[in-house]
Amino acid sequence: MGVNLLIVDDDAALCKLLQSLLVKRDCTIQVAGTVAEARRMMSEQDFDLALVDGLLPDGVGLDLIAEHRKSGVKTDFIFMSAHWRHVGEYIELTRKLSVSAVVHKPFASEEMLVHVDAAIERATAMEQPTAPEAPADPFQQALAELRNKYAATLGERLDQLDKELAALEQEPDADNIESSLRLAHKLHGTSGTYGFMEISVATGMIEEQLGALKAGDIASQPMFWRRLREAAHRARRAVPDLDVGSAKGSEALEDLDHERAVHASTILVVDDDPAFLEQIKVIGRATAHRVLTAVGRDDALQIANEEMIDSAMIDIGLGEGIDGFELAAELREQPGLASLPLGIVSVADNLESRLRAAWSGASLFAGKPVDKETFEQMAIHLHALARGYRPKVLVVDDDPDFSAFVATVLRRHGILVAELHEPERILEALLETRPDLALIDIVMPILSGFDLVRIIRTSPEWKDLPLLLATAQSSHESRLAAFEAGADDYIAKPIIERELIARIKLRVERLSLQRERQERDALTGLLRRQAFMDRFGVRMAELRRHGGRAALCLLDLDHFKQINDSRGHLVGDRVLAAFGRFLTARYRVEDLRCRWGGEEFVMVLLEQDLEMARALIQRGIEDFSQRAFVDDRGEPFSVAFSAGVAAWPDDGDDVTALIERADERLYQAKDAGRARVV
Ligand code: GH3
Ligand code: MG
Ligand code: MG
Repeated sequence: MGVNLLIVDDDAALCKLLQSLLVKRDCTIQVAGTVAEARRMMSEQDFDLALVDGLLPDGVGLDLIAEHRKSGVKTDFIFMSAHWRHVGEYIELTRKLSVSAVVHKPFASEEMLVHVDAAIERATAMEQPTAPEAPADPFQQALAELRNKYAATLGERLDQLDKELAALEQEPDADNIESSLRLAHKLHGTSGTYGFMEISVATGMIEEQLGALKAGDIASQPMFWRRLREAAHRARRAVPDLDVGSAKGSEALEDLDHERAVHASTILVVDDDPAFLEQIKVIGRATAHRVLTAVGRDDALQIANEEMIDSAMIDIGLGEGIDGFELAAELREQPGLASLPLGIVSVADNLESRLRAAWSGASLFAGKPVDKETFEQMAIHLHALARGYRPKVLVVDDDPDFSAFVATVLRRHGILVAELHEPERILEALLETRPDLALIDIVMPILSGFDLVRIIRTSPEWKDLPLLLATAQSSHESRLAAFEAGADDYIAKPIIERELIARIKLRVERLSLQRERQERDALTGLLRRQAFMDRFGVRMAELRRHGGRAALCLLDLDHFKQINDSRGHLVGDRVLAAFGRFLTARYRVEDLRCRWGGEEFVMVLLEQDLEMARALIQRGIEDFSQRAFVDDRGEPFSVAFSAGVAAWPDDGDDVTALIERADERLYQAKDAGRARVV
């Protein structure tokens, strides 16, 4: 039996519209044009749902609802309001009168349908607690066949994409860009349509990046090729295995499951002790991270080149005279791995090994044994370093059980989460939490998700915040309504963990890509001055609060004008780009690097005193000046740099004072013959 529905509105045209909208829904519809008429009908029969207009010829809709509430009949009300009201009124409506939704006139029909569908679902759920399984639908079967056919070709298509990307990296000309772009575009669209979300998301990233490459503003970014390969790899991992043999044990299947899941990150763990690696693998399976293991240097280098890794944890003592620190440096020299965050693991937890860890560019140090918590903390921290920050998502849902579930899933993937259960507090919550993205439930009391999206979109500060709407209905209409209200994306409840993560990651990655484009200098890939100042400000505030040290280093290439003058400006540019890559690959990932201007650079080495910073920069000068450059005539040349270092807090408390001190010392270094640090 369908739902018994009453429309209370004196606007005949609107009633007609609503009736035609609802014609496909399983409900009996009756119409009342006045409060009196509605009152009479409601006393004669029970309605599951009533859509009530605010202002009627003989009274107000609110009174009708209030009156009806006293009767004890459980009718679901949707209140249609002609004007925007004060939040207090909504609280009154939804809390006191249990109105399930307020819709503003004129409303988008999709939006009204979302609320009606939610009400129908509530009504029918009460009637029949367990819905019978729908019989196999021939259309669905045909779709499944098509999907399987497509799935069988995915491996091949991705092989082709790999090939094209490899060719493109060798020779990034317009033809190669165009053909890879076409392929990525097709994969992105079609795989998504067939429900291979991860592949679609990953190839969509590739498409976007190739678009940027085509526009000519990104190839010099240190992470560019790595990102492409990473995305291609992610797509490949998501290809369904069509004949999972029944011979596979449950553990193997579990492995497979874990292997196919969307991971927060992929970590390479290098250790010569197989027992330790086994233990780490088990720990890894219990976390959101994918663990790859290597027992020695060759193994590690091979994996780093074939697989896309986000970070590495290396044991210092690798046996056979192999030094973990050297391996660390070697890994960071691999193409695309200049910014690889490193952790060092060692049995010997002493000052000497911690010092050497800092030398090797390791961001973290852990003594053995490594337990699950330590591993997970390291993994999350290293992962956060790789992206420079951890994204934060605000989850808005009136059901704490639901938002707790979402929060748990997101946290497992290294995402910070804030929860909000009172939608009317949205603006305060945004100010308090400053999220990178908000995930908002559509059907909520007081203010619906649609209303929240509109409120957020009209606030200048948040108008660009990525918004995802979530609701239990996956109908075409509710999706349309979500986009119409101004949401960026839509996700259906029940939420599928992988889909949620994939969609959120896509949004967050786009955002960080955009941010990076704005913040980084295209030639060197280093921070621009303003972005550097912002980040340095944040670091300084942290240092002041928690104590600690930092060294600010001003670096200036020696005789750079001569290089420009005698070998050409383009050769000069190549040197600058190489210097940018050099600074990126050396030193710890979290140290700040900035192109201050021209051929001047600023580095901030965190947690280093003057002595240590001096030694680290000295080593940098030696390394860099040993590099052989070749100019357009084939003539080899080398470039050195000079540096002035100032320490926080001894040499000054703010960036201006530190730069001044470092600048004085830089000039002393130049005066004393260059290629040195003062
Ligand atoms: P010193 O050892 O004293 O630092 O000498 P120098 O020649 O390096 O210093 P100077 O400041 O006289 O010259 C810096 C030159 O850097 C001048 C400028 O044309 C060049 N330059 C600045 N920005 C760029 C750039 O983006 N590309 C190229 N090719 N050259 C640049
Ligand atoms: Mg110079
Ligand atoms: Mg200069």
